[in-house]
Amino acid sequence: MSILELRNVEVEYTRQGRQPVRAVAGASLSVEAGQVVGLVGETGCGKSTLARAAVGLVAPTAGSVWFEGRQIRPLGRRARSRADARLQMVFQNPFSSLNPRRRVGDQIADAIPILGLVSAGRRRERVAQLLERVGLPGSAAQRFPHQYSGGQRQRIAIARALAAEPSVLVLDEPLSSLDASAQAQVANLLKNLARELNVGLLLISHDLAIVRHIADVVAVMYLGLVVETAPSRRLWSAPLHPYTEALIEAIPRSDGKGWLPESLPGEVPDPARPPSGCRFHPRCPYAFDRCVSEPPALSAVAPKRAVACWLHEAGGVERAPSTFARMTRAVSGVGDQVDGV
Ligand code: SF4
Repeated sequence: MSILELRNVEVEYTRQGRQPVRAVAGASLSVEAGQVVGLVGETGCGKSTLARAAVGLVAPTAGSVWFEGRQIRPLGRRARSRADARLQMVFQNPFSSLNPRRRVGDQIADAIPILGLVSAGRRRERVAQLLERVGLPGSAAQRFPHQYSGGQRQRIAIARALAAEPSVLVLDEPLSSLDASAQAQVANLLKNLARELNVGLLLISHDLAIVRHIADVVAVMYLGLVVETAPSRRLWSAPLHPYTEALIEAIPRSDGKGWLPESLPGEVPDPARPPSGCRFHPRCPYAFDRCVSEPPALSAVAPKRAVACWLHEAGGVERAPSTFARMTRAVSGVGDQVDGV
């Protein structure tokens, strides 16, 4: 059963003197207990905005967000953390999300729910447990964030989020500021936390390798829309949406951080002036007349699989890697699928 559910969420930004931008144009997804849901897509596709809408930091223009059966009302960051501690967010940059002037232990202790009188000794004990849970010694409580590396700070930020005893953690690019070795360690930590604490994770990432490594379910976003959702294994072996295929066929960046869909023709359209019909049609090798005029909805095509593409309107047949995949492989010269971390 879903703990966190986003139903047709839209988020529109208005910019002075310019056209409004619908950063999220109607996105739906859900997260269950103990499940890791990876949300992937190119930079600027709206996934971070969707994450913020999921925790109530951004107000949806339309649609709704439901957490533990209640509709989330948008609030400011401080007010939200008081209102619903069981839905926590971990931000991209652990350097800015921790207070440099406060000891690590005090920052974690602040997030421990106050249920009756909790003695100072019990709080210290709990802080030490949380630090050890994320792979740091309990003595780290006495130190300051600047005494730790980026990977260790992100562990501290995760310990602080866990202190609130959340049922869902929303993580916005939690690994992107870390080096490759710290990325792998924190990715493994997140995977284990989901299983062992039965916490649902919504992991936003542009890095398919990391998502492939830890996600149970993957949602793919393109230009403000979720265009495909599927169990992770099925998505990698038989993607249904042409954009998903292109992402999987994409080549790794030279700096080792993520993947770029260089095999796709054309530019990413301006979100303020999205293409008519299917937003992907100017770049899609399968596009036909209907794609230009009618937007396909995200529709179930198989158990636990949904796709927004007219090719799958009649009920969905899982395809083997397509001619498009083979074509782009030939063009780019890259034949490998995404590797684990
Ligand atoms: Fe391509 Fe048409 Fe499917 Fe969009 S709906 S992904 S343009 S085939």
